Amino acid sequence: MPFCPQCRYEYRAGLRQCPDCGAELVNELLPEEQLPPSGPLVTIYTAQDMTEASLVKSFLEEFQIESFIGYDAGSAYPVGQIEVRVAEAHADEARELIAEFLSAPPEDPTL
Ligand SMILES: [Zn+2]
Repeated sequence: MPFCPQCRYEYRAGLRQCPDCGAELVNELLPEEQLPPSGPLVTIYTAQDMTEASLVKSFLEEFQIESFIGYDAGSAYPVGQIEVRVAEAHADEARELIAEFLSAPPEDPTL
Protein backbone atom coordinates (compact mmCIF):
# COMPACT_ATOMS: atom_id res chain seq x y z
CA MET A 1 0.00 0.00 0.00
CA PRO A 2 1.26 3.49 -0.75
CA PHE A 3 1.96 5.90 2.05
CA CYS A 4 2.41 9.64 2.16
CA PRO A 5 5.85 10.44 3.62
CA GLN A 6 4.56 13.81 4.83
CA CYS A 7 1.21 12.90 6.39
CA ARG A 8 2.26 9.34 7.26
CA TYR A 9 -1.14 8.24 6.02
CA GLU A 10 -1.89 5.05 4.14
CA TYR A 11 -3.76 5.24 0.83
CA ARG A 12 -5.36 2.69 -1.40
CA ALA A 13 -3.24 1.06 -4.10
CA GLY A 14 -3.06 2.91 -7.39
CA LEU A 15 -2.66 6.40 -5.97
CA ARG A 16 0.66 8.03 -6.77
CA GLN A 17 0.23 11.37 -5.08
CA CYS A 18 -1.10 12.34 -1.68
CA PRO A 19 -4.52 13.96 -2.12
CA ASP A 20 -3.85 16.05 0.98
CA CYS A 21 -0.40 17.52 0.45
CA GLY A 22 0.52 16.46 -3.09
CA ALA A 23 3.64 14.58 -2.02
CA GLU A 24 4.68 11.56 -4.04
CA LEU A 25 3.56 8.40 -2.26
CA VAL A 26 6.08 5.78 -1.18
CA ASN A 27 5.60 2.07 -0.73
CA GLU A 28 7.04 1.95 2.75
CA LEU A 29 7.43 4.46 5.50
CA LEU A 30 10.75 4.70 7.22
CA PRO A 31 10.56 4.09 10.93
CA GLU A 32 10.39 7.33 12.91
CA GLU A 33 13.95 7.10 14.15
CA GLN A 34 15.33 6.95 10.63
CA LEU A 35 13.73 10.18 9.61
CA PRO A 36 16.05 13.14 9.34
CA PRO A 37 16.13 15.04 12.59
CA SER A 38 13.98 18.09 12.70
CA GLY A 39 13.79 20.90 15.14
CA PRO A 40 16.26 23.55 16.11
CA LEU A 41 19.94 23.18 15.29
CA VAL A 42 22.50 23.82 17.97
CA THR A 43 26.17 24.55 17.54
CA ILE A 44 28.14 21.73 19.09
CA TYR A 45 31.58 22.64 17.85
CA THR A 46 33.41 25.67 16.56
CA ALA A 47 36.15 24.81 14.10
CA GLN A 48 39.06 27.06 13.19
CA ASP A 49 38.67 26.44 9.47
CA MET A 50 36.70 24.58 6.85
CA THR A 51 39.04 21.59 6.88
CA GLU A 52 38.50 21.01 10.57
CA ALA A 53 34.76 21.53 10.23
CA SER A 54 34.55 18.97 7.40
CA LEU A 55 36.55 16.51 9.48
CA VAL A 56 34.14 16.83 12.40
CA LYS A 57 31.16 16.59 10.04
CA SER A 58 32.36 13.38 8.41
CA PHE A 59 33.24 11.96 11.82
CA LEU A 60 29.69 12.56 13.03
CA GLU A 61 28.30 10.99 9.88
CA GLU A 62 30.00 7.74 10.84
CA PHE A 63 27.65 7.71 13.81
CA GLN A 64 24.63 8.58 11.67
CA ILE A 65 24.46 12.06 13.08
CA GLU A 66 23.57 14.56 10.43
CA SER A 67 25.47 17.79 10.85
CA PHE A 68 25.42 21.14 9.17
CA ILE A 69 28.27 23.53 8.65
CA GLY A 70 27.47 27.12 9.33
CA TYR A 71 29.43 30.25 8.64
CA ASP A 72 28.86 33.89 7.96
CA ALA A 73 26.47 33.79 5.02
CA GLY A 74 27.61 37.25 4.02
CA SER A 75 30.95 36.01 2.78
CA ALA A 76 31.44 34.38 -0.60
CA TYR A 77 33.32 31.50 0.96
CA PRO A 78 33.82 30.47 4.56
CA VAL A 79 36.34 32.57 6.44
CA GLY A 80 37.20 32.53 10.10
CA GLN A 81 35.53 30.23 12.54
CA ILE A 82 33.10 27.62 11.24
CA GLU A 83 30.28 26.32 13.36
CA VAL A 84 29.24 22.68 13.22
CA ARG A 85 25.58 22.28 14.08
CA VAL A 86 23.37 19.29 14.72
CA ALA A 87 19.72 18.85 15.60
CA GLU A 88 19.08 19.56 19.27
CA ALA A 89 18.10 15.92 19.84
CA HIS A 90 21.63 14.82 18.89
CA ALA A 91 23.55 17.62 20.55
CA ASP A 92 24.62 15.81 23.73
CA GLU A 93 25.65 12.67 21.87
CA ALA A 94 27.56 14.69 19.28
CA ARG A 95 29.40 16.69 21.94
CA GLU A 96 30.50 13.51 23.70
CA LEU A 97 31.67 11.92 20.45
CA ILE A 98 33.65 15.01 19.51
CA ALA A 99 35.24 15.20 22.95
CA GLU A 100 36.37 11.59 22.56
CA PHE A 101 37.46 12.21 19.00
CA LEU A 102 39.61 15.18 20.01
CA SER A 103 41.17 13.46 23.01
CA ALA A 104 41.99 10.27 21.08
CA PRO A 105 45.66 9.90 20.18
CA PRO A 106 46.37 10.30 16.45
CA GLU A 107 46.22 7.01 14.58
CA ASP A 108 49.45 7.68 12.77
CA PRO A 109 52.18 8.89 15.15
CA THR A 110 54.24 10.23 12.26
CA LEU A 111 51.59 12.83 11.47
ZN1 LIG B 1 0.30 13.90 2.37
